[in-house]
Amino acid sequence: MTLIWFMKATTSPAGGSWRLLLTHVRPFRWTLVLGGVLGLLGSLAGLATPLLARNVIDSFGREVSLAGPVLALSGLVMVGAAVSAVGGYVLERTAESVVLSARLRLVRRMLRLRVPDVDRLEPGDLQSRVTADTTLLRAVCTTGLTNGVTAVFTLAGCVTLMAFMDGVLLLVTLGVLVVIGTINLVVLPRIRTATNAAQAALGEMGATLDRSLQAFRTVKASGAEERETAAVEEAARRAWRRGLSAAGWSAAAGTSTWLAVQLAFLAVLGVGGVRVASGALQVSSLIAFLLYLFYLMAPIAQIVQAAVQLQAGLAVIPRLREVEELPAEPIAPAETPAPGGTGPATVTVTDVGFRYGDDRPQALHDVSFDIPAGGMTALVGPSGAGKSTIFALLERFYEPGSGTIAVDGRDIRDLPLGEWRSALGYVEQDSPVLSGSLRQNIVFGAPDATDAEVAEVLGRTRLEDLVSRLPQGLETAVGHRGQMLSGGERQRVAIARALLRRPRLLLLDEATSQLDAVNELRLRDVINEVAGTTTVLVIAHRLSTVTGADRIVVLDGGRVRAVGTHQELLAQDGLYRELATTQFLANAETLPS
Ligand code: ADP
Repeated sequence: MTLIWFMKATTSPAGGSWRLLLTHVRPFRWTLVLGGVLGLLGSLAGLATPLLARNVIDSFGREVSLAGPVLALSGLVMVGAAVSAVGGYVLERTAESVVLSARLRLVRRMLRLRVPDVDRLEPGDLQSRVTADTTLLRAVCTTGLTNGVTAVFTLAGCVTLMAFMDGVLLLVTLGVLVVIGTINLVVLPRIRTATNAAQAALGEMGATLDRSLQAFRTVKASGAEERETAAVEEAARRAWRRGLSAAGWSAAAGTSTWLAVQLAFLAVLGVGGVRVASGALQVSSLIAFLLYLFYLMAPIAQIVQAAVQLQAGLAVIPRLREVEELPAEPIAPAETPAPGGTGPATVTVTDVGFRYGDDRPQALHDVSFDIPAGGMTALVGPSGAGKSTIFALLERFYEPGSGTIAVDGRDIRDLPLGEWRSALGYVEQDSPVLSGSLRQNIVFGAPDATDAEVAEVLGRTRLEDLVSRLPQGLETAVGHRGQMLSGGERQRVAIARALLRRPRLLLLDEATSQLDAVNELRLRDVINEVAGTTTVLVIAHRLSTVTGADRIVVLDGGRVRAVGTHQELLAQDGLYRELATTQFLANAETLPS
């Protein structure tokens, strides 16, 4: 009865949350029921104790041996305790499994989310949802659902036995239960609101901390340690304040319950005393009734706790649901043949228009150009011209708003996503290197590559010197984000990683930072060599790269301005001439060939 009130109190604003909470729990319902039944059997053994007490008191003065019943009951209580313990373990175990399954669901989805959605969400907050929020589901299963239901049964058993003792005293007790129910009805929604706010603040803290750790060196170099610490502290304090508010309401619910039961005890003692004096009730029954009243404390407290935990669980459900409901990309089959064979790809970009959001300006306007099979095509243009956007569209991180991109005459939207991506090699501008060994970094996109294949790409990317210099060769750990490698080496590691996938089209975003002459030359050799075997599209920041390109596409303000070779463009295009003389960093003519 009480539980139904609690449930009603929580359903109205969040009926969907209840349903979702149950979907997390449903696969484990039978083990939860088992844990609950074992717990119930355990506590029923306890219910027999006051009955025995009454018999003992009644038998005072009579010549009856109590040894037998007392021994039997002791045995029963002990078995009950053991059964409860097993039930408790089954419950905790199941609860851990519910948390695990929720985490796995989130984790599986997380890396398949679409790029635009992840652009919007804070990585730290996403992390907090997987780690901290899911933890609250554990208590929902144990304290919330199973203990709650078990407690309702125990409560019902207790009340039945009390009715059997004395109807009037039962009425007094039920009056108290109604008071407890009413108090909780007011308090519980507040606990949910406070918990939701506390978890959101925890997410904010995760996001702030993540930002500082991502830009660790920048934070130090900017002398911003104190300010960033203060920002994280502020988020931590906000989580604390909101946690305090939830704790306050929980304490209010618990204390008022305790107080109500104490008052019930006094009331029963008073009313019961009068009834004993008038001869309407036996002293032994009054004592047994009072024992039941104390026994009642546990299930009532459990029900209140259950309701509190369910509120907390319901509070995190919307945060978990938000991630679960985001669209995900399809899972790429493990072994996907490259579309249309294995040779270098021909790409045709036709009238592509694109904007990052409805409220954002147009990033590309009617962009059209061809990338012939084999050889190198370079994209050049001032910052913000739309070069990286073209890469993102080729990788299908975003869909073009208008126009088409076709590979070998087929629209890339018609190709299965995994299949298309497996035909691409992608080297980002800041050439991310993941923490782990050099080998792990190189085989990241092709985990089944053989040693011979690894050796081959090391040769092609001129990384053999590096490997022989490193203390443990390929197995050397390269540090968090590859700090142990120079910029040029990181870039070649990223190229090696991309090449190991045998791409039909290599997308290479050159580093804007200055490389030393040796690394510059090596990079140029690597790119030229790769362009001999596959199609290369490079976002060029160096003169040494563009002079080696077969064709150059000049972009400006999201439009194609001119297409041609270096010599042609120098003669024809003012912007290109300007870029070539002022913005490209290194001058090819000064490099040894
Ligand atoms: P480039 O690579 O030539 O420097 P980009 O393709 O990065 O240029 O940017 C083209 C335009 O799109 C710029 O105006 C930039 O501000 C905008 N832009 C780039 N990435 C995003 C993004 N993730 N969200 C919103 N706008 C973006």
